[in-house]
Amino acid sequence: MTEHEQLTELCRRLGAEPASAAVMAAQLQKRADQMAAERGVTRVAAMEYLLGVMMQARRGETPAADAPGRPPLSMREKLLTLFHATFGRSPAVITRAPGRIEFIGNHTDYNGGTVLGAAIDRGVWVALAPRADGVRRFASEQQAGVVTQGAGTLKKADGDEAWINYPLGVLAALPEFGLKAPAGFDFYAVSDLPSGAGLSSSAAIELASALAFLELTGQRPARETVVKIGRHAENHFVGVPCGILDQGVSGFGQKDRLVFIDCRGPRFDTVPLPAGAQFWIFNTHTKHALVDGLYAARHRECMAAAQALGVDLLVAATPAMLESARGELPPETHRRAKHVIEEIARVDACVAALRAGDLPAAGRLLTASHRSSQALFENSTPELDFLVDELVRAPGVHGARLTGGGFGGAVMALTAPEFTREQAARVAAAYREKHGQEPDVLHTRTGDGAAVVQSSAPICEK
Ligand code: ADP
Ligand code: MG
Repeated sequence: MTEHEQLTELCRRLGAEPASAAVMAAQLQKRADQMAAERGVTRVAAMEYLLGVMMQARRGETPAADAPGRPPLSMREKLLTLFHATFGRSPAVITRAPGRIEFIGNHTDYNGGTVLGAAIDRGVWVALAPRADGVRRFASEQQAGVVTQGAGTLKKADGDEAWINYPLGVLAALPEFGLKAPAGFDFYAVSDLPSGAGLSSSAAIELASALAFLELTGQRPARETVVKIGRHAENHFVGVPCGILDQGVSGFGQKDRLVFIDCRGPRFDTVPLPAGAQFWIFNTHTKHALVDGLYAARHRECMAAAQALGVDLLVAATPAMLESARGELPPETHRRAKHVIEEIARVDACVAALRAGDLPAAGRLLTASHRSSQALFENSTPELDFLVDELVRAPGVHGARLTGGGFGGAVMALTAPEFTREQAARVAAAYREKHGQEPDVLHTRTGDGAAVVQSSAPICEK
């Protein structure tokens, strides 16, 4: 038997449809040749690796991130390998969308304020190939098995399959924006972004899906529309009432820049991030049991404060207005409004500091934002406060704050390069000593926004 025949047989046994097993085998051979040439490893090592990933995918396991030799297997290579292993053919489109950090602008979005975020260098990748029969098949490296939806159905999934609600929500949103949803396809997602860590993997999978569906159908709407489609999917199909921050930053992010959003428009802009800035995320995996209720309560308190101040949203209130109404507002409502009004001012001050290249000043504003969360908005926790206290004492840290809604979750630090992995480990160890659990530590930089990475969709102009 030739190598090609052996591989064809193997692919068939791994579940490839007979017609595609031979094609898949030829592609495996070609990829092994490429990998051997690009990485300077032996062809046997490359082939072993590719087959190993196929077996793992078949067992529903997450494949090893490292290819033979250095550097590690790229996300694109991993995605192609898993797509082949699962569907027995090549994708027509590959897209990628990043996760994001909320840099500053805490609970400002629904108050009509401004916010600064950063797209990071990790994200979700989606590969897509059309199917003529109208059937939609979904698979993700994070989930075992393939989820199938019959032609023309958009049925909300639950349990282990609930993750497909993100791409399904995008399909459901497209007609709402006057766009066409693709009929049948095979869909695969891989990610180097932790899920549920406050880095918005949900917006990343929405935007990567939206771009893939649009590319496959040859549609190129404005970037702002793609962002709104992602948010619409999350609000109306998944059922999470998020603001525009997550999708806006994933969509408009740029390497070495922060995304500025004026939530009233919304209007999107970018601000350069001075050289040398680094981000460290410490995810505590803590979550207040009542987080949804607390979030809704803060929303209510802000709206009540706006009404008492005679404005539609707190963005229209000034510190002077708040001061003169002090006697009429319950102390708690006053604290909430003060946080939001001052936080919006801090976002503007932060933009000015960044434009002046002053990272220490930007860092001080981040820490001030956290202190305000702690004392006024009361959306911090002892765990988050502990991390911020430890971080601001460490060398090279410009500032630190909770990132995201609060009531648990993650802290981010803006640092100079002299804040090293060793120092991050020291902070994590102190946290474990005090709170009994190690936080996840993630070192990240800014990255580019959502994009089509590769496309051979026949109906698309290039
Ligand atoms: P966050 O957005 O902070 O990461 P969410 O709870 O909003 O947390 O979204 C996480 C959910 O998004 C996951 O539980 C999963 O359903 C979905 N998701 C994100 N990335 C992927 C992926 N690569 N594959 C499948 N599902 C994903
Ligand atoms: Mg999310």
